[in-house]
Amino acid sequence: MRVACSSCSAQNRLPASRLLDKARCAACKASLLPLSRPIAVQSGEDFEELVRDAKVPVLVDFWAAWCGPCRLVAPELEKLAAQRSGLTIVAKVDTDAEPRLSARFGISSIPTLVLFRQGREAKRISGAMSASAMATQLGL
Ligand SMILES: [Zn+2]
Repeated sequence: MRVACSSCSAQNRLPASRLLDKARCAACKASLLPLSRPIAVQSGEDFEELVRDAKVPVLVDFWAAWCGPCRLVAPELEKLAAQRSGLTIVAKVDTDAEPRLSARFGISSIPTLVLFRQGREAKRISGAMSASAMATQLGL
């Protein structure tokens, strides 16, 4: 799947099963993995691979740029991703860019957070909340 470097924005191609390993960006050599920030899912194929192959639970934020509550949740997700680096992968799906994914999961309001464990939906919550409230409600 593609992982964008947070320093130089270069796309790095990595297997989702290796997201807990250490890796550097191929372009600028900045630290890329282990992930400590939310990862932007860039295609349906990348989504499948991530949810299927990740070795830890994957929390997916279904969001959109025009959604006010999504902007409130974004920094909380950053916090959660940093706090749970190596334990939970936090991913973001732009519902405008990936309407098929939001349709498939019946996303009717955003932000909606869906937790996948071993490839299956384990829990979902909707609406803006703090990182600690998310962790409690999702059982992380
Ligand atoms: Zn880079």
